[in-house]
Amino acid sequence: MQYAFDIGGSKIEFGVFSDAGDILLHSKSPTPRDNRDAFIAALSDAVSDADSEFGERPDIGISFAGGLDPQTGAIITANVPAIKGWKLGAELSAILGRRVLVENDADCFALAEAISGAAKGVRTVFAIILGTGVGGGIVYDGQFPGGCSGIRGEWGHGNDVTGTLIRNGLAPVPCGCGLTGCLDAWGGARGLEHIHAQISGNRVTSFDVTDAWRAGDALAKRSIDIYSELVARELALMVNVLDPDCIPVGGGIASEGLLIAQIDALVRDRALGRYDAPLVIPGAHARDGGLRGAAMLHQMASQKLLGRMH
Ligand SMILES: [Zn+2]
Repeated sequence: MQYAFDIGGSKIEFGVFSDAGDILLHSKSPTPRDNRDAFIAALSDAVSDADSEFGERPDIGISFAGGLDPQTGAIITANVPAIKGWKLGAELSAILGRRVLVENDADCFALAEAISGAAKGVRTVFAIILGTGVGGGIVYDGQFPGGCSGIRGEWGHGNDVTGTLIRNGLAPVPCGCGLTGCLDAWGGARGLEHIHAQISGNRVTSFDVTDAWRAGDALAKRSIDIYSELVARELALMVNVLDPDCIPVGGGIASEGLLIAQIDALVRDRALGRYDAPLVIPGAHARDGGLRGAAMLHQMASQKLLGRMH
C-alpha cells in the first residue's frame, strides 16, 4: 500500500493506492497556501485518518507544482508560499514517522505514464502537461535522469516564440519567469484563450474554442492552427534532443484528441528523425497522473537501488 499527495496551489489531493495500483481512497482539501502549521496539519490529518482506516503505516509520495533542490531537498519554486524553501520530504518524514519522497508533478505524471500508462514498456518517455501553462517530465529506463538544478523537463521556458507570434499578428507578453517569448504563456489552455481573444475579439474558454473548431468555425480554426504551430515547433526541438519513444499529454488539453493528433502530425513533420507511429498521444493518466505517479516514487527508488547492486 502507498499513500500519495498531489499538492496544487488551490487543492491538496490525497490517495491511498494498493500495491496493484488500484485507488482505495481519494480525498481533496483546500491548500493552506500561506500557513505552514495549517499545511502540516492538513497532511497529518489525512495520513492519521487513513492509518486508522486501513491499519497500516505506508510510505508517502508527494507530487507538487514546482522545483526541488537536488542537493538539499528544499523546495526552490512553488505556488504554495507555505512550503517555499522548506525541506518538505525530510521534515514531513520526521513528523509523520515514515519515508517521504517528493517530486515535481510533471515528473510524477511522466512516471505514471511510463509505469502503467500510455508509455508503458518503452524506454524514453517525455511526458508533457498542457494545462493552465506548459510543463514536462522525462523518464528513461523507468527512472528520472538526474538533474543539477532541480529544474528538468521545463520545455515551456527559455523559448522564443516571438517570430511565430508576430507572423500571426499576435503581441508577445512577458512570462512569469521574467523572460519574454516563453511558450508557457501560449502553450496551455490560457494561451489558447489568449490567441483566440486576439484573433476573434472574443474572450471565451479553451473548450469553447475547440468546440467551435470541431464545428467548422473559421476563426477558431485559425486560433487552433496558430496554437498547434507554437506548441509543435518547441516540441519538435525536444524530440530532436531526447528522441523519445512517445510523448503522453496531460492537463486539460489532453482531452482534445483531434488537437493532439494535429500537433503530433506537425511535430513529426518538423522533427529531424523519422517517426512512423504517433509520438504525441493523450496520456492514460491525464487526470490523476501527478497523484498516481507520487504513489510510484518509492517503487522507482527501490528499483534504482536494485539496479546499483547488479
Ligand atoms: Zn518563462
